[in-house]
This record gives sequence, structure tokens and C-alpha cells, in this order.
Amino acid sequence: MNKNHSLPTRREVLGTMIGALGATLLASAGKAFAQPRFAGRLKIDFSKLAPGAAAKYPFALPDLPYAANALAAAIDEQTMQIHHGRHHKAYTDNLNNALKEHTALQQMTIVELLSDLQALPESVRAVVRNHGGGYFNHCLFWHMMSPQTSQPSGDLAAAINRDFGSLEACKEKFNKAASSLFGSGWAWLVVNETGKLEIAQTANQDTPLAAKHKPVLGIDVWEHAYYLRYQNKRGDYIAAFWNVINWEQCGKNFAG
Ligand code: MN
Repeated sequence: MNKNHSLPTRREVLGTMIGALGATLLASAGKAFAQPRFAGRLKIDFSKLAPGAAAKYPFALPDLPYAANALAAAIDEQTMQIHHGRHHKAYTDNLNNALKEHTALQQMTIVELLSDLQALPESVRAVVRNHGGGYFNHCLFWHMMSPQTSQPSGDLAAAINRDFGSLEACKEKFNKAASSLFGSGWAWLVVNETGKLEIAQTANQDTPLAAKHKPVLGIDVWEHAYYLRYQNKRGDYIAAFWNVINWEQCGKNFAG
């Protein structure tokens, strides 16, 4: 031991311990109430995207915005009923169950929960990622479709031409992303951090939020989304999806 090193006094030791304890308490309090970084970075009014997309615990399964048979040009009635009433409901219920004992997390919106998964306690992180992601993605999905066909217009149409050259080129890239996704997941038209439109894929129920992307249009390519009518012909489902895109809502998503 270094003879010149004077031993700390009892008071100094106590002070250091209290300081360390205080720092630990502050750190854990800060973690419990931390606001996700995403919310401050990308300005999105999620209340415009779809009912439920800005919700907090307890989460409720939003109604379909049309009858289950209304999208028959692309998706059959039974698929819609099972997809919404069972799959989306299960994501909603499992998310609620996971947050039952977490009062601090119950104060956060689904967007806040999903935007900084690393900030969540490890015990709920996977459930929020999978079932919270499923809850959020499907809230968006139902409203990205409509029985009334339309075309992109206004600022969104201009941005599609600017970033892809044409709607046809955008469609080709989107369809390629949807058909080439291996396993279960989603293909998206998103706004990236630089404000440009791009095509993206997410695996399982991961959301565009994790990549700091703003979702404009998305297609669910899990087999549960199309298998009854299309079986293994995912490409036919993707082609038909273009008959029911709600471009008016996509325009709001883009502007929001
Ligand atoms: Mn689905």
C-alpha cells in the first residue's frame, strides 16, 4: 500500500456511499420515467394515422372501418374476420397482460413504448416488441385499405415522383419487397430520417418506428393475411392489394 496515501475519513466514506446510492436511485428513477428519444426527433401526429395508434393502456381492439366483406376485391371476408377478430385481438390482449403490473409503462403511448424498446425492462421487452408491434401495425393496416379505390394525390404524389420517378416504379419496388420477404413480416412505404420516401421491410411484428421511419403504406405478408384465398401465391395477394389501397389515408400519414 502507498504510505503517502492517507486513508479516507469515516465521513468521506459515508459521503461517497450516499452519493453512489443517490446516483443509483436517480438513474433508476430516470429510467422508469424516461421519455423515448424518438418522440422528440420525428414529429408525427399518430392520432391522424389510425384509431388506436396513439393509445395507452388498457389497449382496445379498434373496429374495422368497413364491413369484413368490403375488401373482397383483394381479401375475403373470413380472412378479414379471423385476422382482425382473432389475430389482432390476441396481440391486443397479450400486450395488456404484459403491462398489467407495470404502472409506469401504462402511462406511455404505444408509439412511445415501441420507439425505444431498449429502455423497457427486459421482462416485457419481447412481448411489447412482438404483441405491441402487432397491435400497432394492424391499427395502421386496416386504415391503409378501403373499398373505394383511389390514386395518390397532392404532396404524396409529388414525393413519389420525386423519390421513385413514378408510381409504377414505386409499386414495383414495394411489390418486390413484399414478395421477397422471407418468412413473416411487412413491407412498407415510409418516410426516412432525411424526409425521403423509401421502401422498407420489417420482420415478424417489428414496426417502422424502430428504424425511425414514418409509415405511409404497409402490407402484411404473414400467411394469416392471405392464405385462405391465395395459399402459396403471395404475389397474387400483393397484386390485388393495390385494388384496395386507401391513398387518402396514406396522404394523411405522409403529412402527419
Ligand atoms: Mn396480421
